[in-house]
This record gives sequence, C-alpha cells and structure tokens, in this order.
Amino acid sequence: MKILTEHIDVQGINTFDVFRKNGGYKAAEKALKTMTPDEVTEEVKKSGIRGRGGAGFPMGMKWSFLAKPEGIPRYLVCNADESEPGTFKDHYLMMKSPHTLIEGMIVSSYALGANTSYIYVRGELMYVVHILEKAIQEAYDKGFLGKNILGSGYDLDLFVQPGGGAYICGEETALLESLEGKRGNPRNKPPFPAVKGLWQCPTVVNNVESISATSWIINNGGDEYAKIGIGRSTGTKLISASGHVRKPGVYEIPLGITVEDFIYSDEWCGGIRDGHKLKAVVAGGSSVPILPAELILKTANGEKRLMTYESLSDGGFITGTMLGSGGFVVMDETTCIVHNTLTFGRFYHHESCGQCSPCREGTGWMDKILYRIEHGQGRQEDIDLLVDVAKKIEGNTICPLGEAASWPVAAAIRHFRDEFEWHVKHPEKATQKGAVFMRE
Ligand code: NAD
Ligand code: SF4
Repeated sequence: MKILTEHIDVQGINTFDVFRKNGGYKAAEKALKTMTPDEVTEEVKKSGIRGRGGAGFPMGMKWSFLAKPEGIPRYLVCNADESEPGTFKDHYLMMKSPHTLIEGMIVSSYALGANTSYIYVRGELMYVVHILEKAIQEAYDKGFLGKNILGSGYDLDLFVQPGGGAYICGEETALLESLEGKRGNPRNKPPFPAVKGLWQCPTVVNNVESISATSWIINNGGDEYAKIGIGRSTGTKLISASGHVRKPGVYEIPLGITVEDFIYSDEWCGGIRDGHKLKAVVAGGSSVPILPAELILKTANGEKRLMTYESLSDGGFITGTMLGSGGFVVMDETTCIVHNTLTFGRFYHHESCGQCSPCREGTGWMDKILYRIEHGQGRQEDIDLLVDVAKKIEGNTICPLGEAASWPVAAAIRHFRDEFEWHVKHPEKATQKGAVFMRE
C-alpha cells in the first residue's frame, strides 16, 4: 500500500507534466473547485492521520485549534527542517517528488484559509531548496499557485526558506523565530502557534510527510485512509531504516506491521547484516529511548510489537511515542552502547540553544561524564549520577530538546547497565577512541 511513494521512481516525476500524468494535482483541483475549506478539514479529521514529524499529534485536531480572528492573516508553515539523527524520509520525498509536497501545501493552505505559506527546509539541503523552487515556479506557470487559482477565487503564494543550520530550528517555535529572521530560540508554549505563531498570527506548523498525505486523503476520502493501519495509528508511514540491516533505505509501510517483519522481511530491511545478531534499536530517531532486541520485538507482556504509535510506547519510561520521526536505527552485537550514547549525548550538548540552565548545563555534564566513562576515567557512582542529571533535565525546560537528550541516556543505562559498569571496571581497555564493549 503506497500513498506517498507510489510513483516516486517514475522517470521525471520531479517535473510538473510527469507528475500530472500520474494523477498529480487532482486533489488540488477537487478541493478548490468542489469543496469548502471546512469539508477538506473534515476529511483530514476523518482520516485520523497523526503528525509525522515525531510527536504524533492528530493533524485534524491541530487544524481545528487554528484561531480565525477577523482581518488577521493565517499561515501554514511546512517543517522541512528534518535534522533528527537517523531520519531522512522528508529529504527523500522532497528530492524525488517535490510536487507531492507542493500539492499538499495547496490543499492544506486552502483548508486553513492561508494565502501565504512557507516551506522551511533544513539549511544544509540547498539543492532541495533549488528543486522545490523550480517545482514551485512550474506550479505558478500552470496556474496552481498565485492569484485566483483555477478560477476558484482562492489566492496562494508559496515560499521556500532555507533553514538556519541548527537542529533546534526544527522545533516549531524556534523555526518560526528563524523564519522571522531571528536566532532560532524556542518560545514558551502556550500560546501554541495555532493561536500566536508567525508574526504573532495564527499558524499551523506541519511536517512534510503529513502535508503530503492530504492529497491522497482528498482524492480517496478520510474514511479510506483510516482503513489503513490499526486503531489510532492510521495510514502509511515513511520509515528511514539505517544501521546494521541488509537493506537500509526509506520505506513506506502500512502502520500496524510487526517490528519483526519490518526488520527481517525481504520486503523491508531484509534482516541483520550477514553473520550478526540484533542487539538494539532506536525506533524513532535519536530523541527516543533505545530498546534492546528482546523488547523491540515483543512488548513486556510478550505480545509482538507493532509499528504503531501505541505499540511503540510502553517502554515504561516515557509517555510519548517511540515511533517518533520514523528514524529506525538498527544495531547489531558489535555496537558499543556506551559509545552510541556518547555520540547522541555529544550531539545534544552541541545543539542545545542554551536558553534554559537544566538543558544548557545538563547536556554538557552528561557529555563529560559519558566521555570519561568511555575513555577509562569513569567512576562507579558516575552511572547513577548520569541518571540523576537526566531526571533533573526532564520536565524543566522550554522545549523538548532537554528530554530528547536525557531520556535516551536513562534508557541506555536502564537496559545496558552492565556495559557502563564494564567500562568503569576495565579502564585498561580504553583507547584514544574509547573502549568497545564486547559481550564475553
Ligand atoms: P508537542 O507534543 O509539544 O506538539 C505537537 C504539536 O501539537 C505541535 O505542533 C503543537 O503546537 C501542537 N499542540 C500540542 N498541544 C496543543 C494545544 N493544546 N493547542 C494547540 N496546538 C497544540 O511536540 P513537538 O515539540 O512539536 O515535537 C516533539 C517531537 O519532535 C519529538 O517527539 C521528536 O520525535 C520529534 N522530533 C523530530 C525531528 C525531525 O527531524 N523530524 C527532530 C527533533 C524532534
Ligand atoms: Fe534551548 Fe535546551 Fe531550553 Fe530547548 S530545552 S529551549 S534547546 S536550552
């Protein structure tokens, strides 16, 4: 079942004409010519689609929160700042099929009553900015953007903005600050962007994948979309699979397949690289806790774990979802979990914007403690100290980066404490590159 990637390998799908020949822009035509904005919103609500950036917040509900005061403009901003380590699905979609996103932007902007919309693209991906700009120009030339689109009376201008080059610019309020030309510092929420967003006006911020799915929903109906998947995890999801699997790549899966199938079936990842065994998985990008092999394949109750928001959420430590952004990082038994935790920990320390003390100082402390454990200078009490620092960051920061930095550290210690202890007990094994734990 392919919704977003059905035609992705068609030669020339990045051009307007080929995209159109393959059914492109039908949803924009249908929405603008035959539906009211409320009817479009209703279909998105019926579909049950949840935000594909990582939080899994119901998209239709977010749209219904949009304030609509008289005379104040509203905006739709597409978050294409995909920077989560292990996540590269939006990049793939925009690069291969930019019109999929542009059509979704037209449908969604129409539903929200936005006449100016933005796609904020990760700053490192300038070639994607150019691909989108070229495709947007084609859409203007063919009458799908600009004034009085298809004679419907609806106007829309669409702009692409290169990002500020920092991970934190993908946090929605930091993104809005950056789009306004300021340093990308997150804002306190509430107010949520739906009430006060870009230029203090009501704004919806949605991920590339979420917006792109709206065209299929309009063409086929929200009820049809809701039939795909299981329970509250409806539709398909793009998963970026990386690490020690035989076939890394971007896969569009129907939500609800088992994690085991996703890892081992030839349709998807094709199993672990030859001669090796599964050790652990980070299922939703570096912000979610790591799970050891036995817990990623089966829940604590012994049920097969599914690729859904619900099934990937009972790790016992977090309330959110481990499906996250769909950055599925697979590790075999050659992976040193302490080294892996240090790599992620160093990243968050570097990317903290520094506004809140618990995150600014705490990520630095965790980085230093992890570094000394990895390099043969760790003390036994450092392991509990790490957990303590992680707990003190949690819930005490402006944005979720603090939790994203602390949950994975606490989870790594919870599931792989023996590896941390081994590092402390065996300083002689440390090299300049650190020590590599191997199970004896
Ligand atoms: P969140 O749960 O705070 O918010 C989700 C969305 O719902 C936001 O758009 C928010 O404005 C909206 N919302 C929530 N409550 C609302 C209310 N009462 N009224 C109006 N709107 C409301 O999460 P978040 O900070 O947007 O995202 C965190 C997630 O981002 C993490 O779980 C992580 O997986 C993911 N992430 C993704 C990337 C990436 O590159 N894709 C990078 C870093 C983090
Ligand atoms: Fe900045 Fe970290 Fe505070 Fe987020 S949690 S606002 S990244 S200091």
